[in-house]
Amino acid sequence: MGAAERLPGLENVRERIRKAEQEAGRPADSVQLVAVSKQQPESRVLAALESGQRVFGENRVQEARERWLHRRADWPGLELHLVGPLQGNKVRQAVEMFDCIQSLDRPKLAARIAAAIRATGRKPKLLVQINTGEEPQKSGVPPGEADAFIDACQRENGLQIDGLMSIPPIGEEPSLHFGLLAKIARGKSLACMSMGMSDDFECAIAFGATHVRVGSAVFGSRSPSG
Ligand SMILES: *Cc1c(COP(=O)(O)O)cnc(C)c1O
Repeated sequence: MGAAERLPGLENVRERIRKAEQEAGRPADSVQLVAVSKQQPESRVLAALESGQRVFGENRVQEARERWLHRRADWPGLELHLVGPLQGNKVRQAVEMFDCIQSLDRPKLAARIAAAIRATGRKPKLLVQINTGEEPQKSGVPPGEADAFIDACQRENGLQIDGLMSIPPIGEEPSLHFGLLAKIARGKSLACMSMGMSDDFECAIAFGATHVRVGSAVFGSRSPSG
C-alpha cells in the first residue's frame, strides 16, 4: 500500500518553490525543501522517498531515530535536519544521526554539541535559532543577543555556524521576521537561512530563505498517533 500512495502535495510544493525562486530573481534550485515528516504516516514518507525527496526534517530525536536510522543504508543521499528543540541529554544521539541541527539556541547546548562532535567525529551543519518575535514561550536566541551568541559559539566552542533559523509568531506578518533574520545573517556573513513553512514559504523565499521547512503542504495534515 505504501508504495502505491501518491503525494500530490510534494509536486505542488516543488512547483511553487520553483515559481517563487523565479519571481525573486533567484537561481533555480537555490532553495532546499526540507520535508518535515514529523507525525506523518509511514506510507506518505515512503511515497516522498520514492518521488526523489531526500531531505527531511524531524522535531524529536527519538521519533527521528525510530523512523530513519534503519533507512540510511537503503536510501543513499538521505539528509536529516533536526528542526525541534534539543535537550541536553539527547545531544550525542542528535549529533550521531542528524546532518543539520537547526535549533542551537543556548551556550550550554553549544558546549555539549562541541563535545559530541569531538567524541563522534561527526560534524552536522549548525543553525542558530533566533526568536525573532521575542516570544517568552518559544525557544531561540533574542535578536539583540544573536551576534554575541554566534561569536561565542565560534570562539569559545570552536563551532562552525552555518546559518540561522526562525519560526515567526502565529498570526503576525511573517515578512518582518524573515527580514530581520536575513539582516542578522547578512551581518554575520552566514550563508544558510531556514525560514518559511507551509503557510508562508513563498514569502520566505522572497526574503532569501535557503531552506524552507514544509510539513502539511507536502504530506497532508498530521495525526499525532500516525
Ligand atoms: C512542524 C514544523 C514545521 C512544518 O510545519 P507545517 O506548517 O506543517 O509546514 C516547520 N518547522 C518546524 C520547526 C516545525 O516544528
